[in-house]
Amino acid sequence: MAEIKEPMEPYRIKVIEPIPSTTRKERDALLRQAGFNVFQIAADKITIDLLTDSGTSAMSDNQWAGMMMGDESYAGARNFFHLEDTVKDIFGFSHVIPTHQGRAAERILFEGMVKKGDHVPSNIHFDTTRANVEVLGANAVDLAAPAAYDPDSPHPFKGDMDVDRLKKFIESKGAKKVPLVMLTITNNSGGGQPVSLKNIKEVSRICRQYEVPFFFDACRFAENAFFIKKREKGYAEKSVLEIAQEMFSYADGATMSAKKDALANIGGFVTLDDDALSDKLKNLLIISEGFPTYGGLAGRDLEAVARGLREVLDEDYLEHRTGQVAFLGDLLAAGGVPFFKPTGGHAVYVLADRFLPHILRHKYPGWALTVALYREAGIRAVEIGGVMFAKKERKSGKEIYPELELVRLAIPRRVYTASHLRYVADALIELHANRDKVRGLRIVREPLFLRHFTARLEEI
Ligand SMILES: *Cc1c(COP(=O)(O)O)cnc(C)c1O
Repeated sequence: MAEIKEPMEPYRIKVIEPIPSTTRKERDALLRQAGFNVFQIAADKITIDLLTDSGTSAMSDNQWAGMMMGDESYAGARNFFHLEDTVKDIFGFSHVIPTHQGRAAERILFEGMVKKGDHVPSNIHFDTTRANVEVLGANAVDLAAPAAYDPDSPHPFKGDMDVDRLKKFIESKGAKKVPLVMLTITNNSGGGQPVSLKNIKEVSRICRQYEVPFFFDACRFAENAFFIKKREKGYAEKSVLEIAQEMFSYADGATMSAKKDALANIGGFVTLDDDALSDKLKNLLIISEGFPTYGGLAGRDLEAVARGLREVLDEDYLEHRTGQVAFLGDLLAAGGVPFFKPTGGHAVYVLADRFLPHILRHKYPGWALTVALYREAGIRAVEIGGVMFAKKERKSGKEIYPELELVRLAIPRRVYTASHLRYVADALIELHANRDKVRGLRIVREPLFLRHFTARLEEI
């Protein structure tokens, strides 16, 4: 067994926040109250929170200092111009439209581009992009290459889109029915896996050929760029900034959640070149988000995002960031816990159907694992499987499950140390040894969209 490399934090700790401890009995009662849905449990009852890496980053002293420089003018705040300059430098598009978070950017972009009956391909849509496409009566299509669904393939770029399928898809539907192509970097719903520059270029070429706009869902662009530097031939000597600039140079725009690779707790933006579309989006923005120089954010938030976008490109940071994820993966591998390989940029994705082979898909093994992990160890993770992504057959109501049944252990940026990750690995290894005791669940109440946030379940 190779020695497990423990990455050293490239920062020291200046402010701390205590984390709670609870008893198993308390956690069992909390789960029942919460309808066995860990989204419904108060955060001060969570010991290690790996629900998401979204908005959970620890900001730096530099970002907090920037917060004090917030200009809260309604229009034309200086922090907007700082953000605009920063985004233009990294992304290279001429318009920058701030939003309160990523899904707001998606909503205005899709409202501006997508009509009922249209088709929007991606490698794999994230749940909010899928919902924002579907709510408009359009079809969100996943066209990831086959490796994306193979948890054991060592392919270095499992986020890649299947470009042959993309071409055939556009031809079969007609380019007029495909208002844009999205590419999610890294591919969150497919294991946080990166997309190669080679693939980005090919997708771009096809989009140009059929005159279909090409947008990134760029939430984790820096992690994606770092993987390109590490894994793709010809990029080892380039800086992450240069790689990011090259990635974006092949597209027409991007949506971004600043809660991921902008190291901020809130924020997002759309950035694009098309002047007419930009005007349209700004009008949509004003209706629900705010004036185009603040887009639903305070001036101080714009500043934190602008500074975070620079910090996230620091290569010591990215080495540690991806190193932490690999470290958790190595510990789990040594303990025999099955997970999606190789580890991605922001999370380890446990293969819940292999972890709990006695629980069939309609009893939601991924969800069952999130419940067990909380009950046994106070750890919160998220299911990315049947509850989140099942589709219902129109007539019978029968559920069709996504290919992968995952539990994501998302690692917040700059928040937990190696000892926290050891605690998580130990808990999962222990749970794996006692997996026969974990029970499946049934859904007793669910909403129409994004049901995983509010559904209530019970154990069978
Ligand atoms: C988080 C996320 C979004 C949505 O961003 P929010 O800020 O949560 O609204 C969209 N796409 C991907 C890939 C994401 O990870």
